[in-house]
Amino acid sequence: MEFIKFSGVTKQYRNGVVALYDMNLSIEKGDFCFIIGGSGSGKSTLIKMLYREEKPTRGEIILGGLKVNKLRNSNVYKLRRKLGIVFQDYRLLPKSNVYENVAFALEVIGAKKSEIRPKVLKAIELVGLKSKLRDYPDDLSGGEQQRVAIARAIVNEPKLLICDEPTGNLDPVMSREIVELLDEINKKEGTTVIMVTHDKTIVNDMKKHVIALKEGHLYKDYKKGEYIDEIL
Ligand code: ADP
Repeated sequence: MEFIKFSGVTKQYRNGVVALYDMNLSIEKGDFCFIIGGSGSGKSTLIKMLYREEKPTRGEIILGGLKVNKLRNSNVYKLRRKLGIVFQDYRLLPKSNVYENVAFALEVIGAKKSEIRPKVLKAIELVGLKSKLRDYPDDLSGGEQQRVAIARAIVNEPKLLICDEPTGNLDPVMSREIVELLDEINKKEGTTVIMVTHDKTIVNDMKKHVIALKEGHLYKDYKKGEYIDEIL
């Protein structure tokens, strides 16, 4: 089933730069999709439009039945509740421990106290950090901090997990662990995962759907398992 669809999406920034040209693509429900491409190819612009950080200049974006580009600002929260987002730089609260960092995501949306604790514990267990509940971000490795960020992103059971270069600050071993964790979440929870990456080895090893961008154009859409002949 189609979950995300871009139809004729063009994005021109106010300074005149065209970041994406007439983009058509679709991502199925439950898919694990890598977005690859050189610096400046439009990867961040593409995912920012998914969570309505940016709006397309032309074209239509549909996500889980919502017309993302048509949403009123006052309804953007409906979209954001379907998503979890993970960034390269983790973005954790330094003065909060692991439990509090993850719980915060539910507190801000006004979740009931009684449902916060079991959900937080489940998410932390899923990312393998049950023994670190009371640790602070500074006491954790980069890989562990990213696991906390992933727990925070999935704690509200989103339909879609967007990861913007989640392994960009990690060594190859930790990077592999993070991608395998995302793969596990995709398989176990059925969460659709979109991951922007530069890591050629990971992309070729994981054998997933891969969307390659080049200079704002869709360069190639590789089906699951297809060998990626080049990474731009
Ligand atoms: P990538 O994530 O692949 O590096 P981006 O989507 O960040 O690519 O950028 C694509 C193009 O859009 C680049 O030329 C970049 O300079 C430009 N761009 C990105 N964000 C903005 C912005 N807010 N204003 C103007 N130009 C931007």
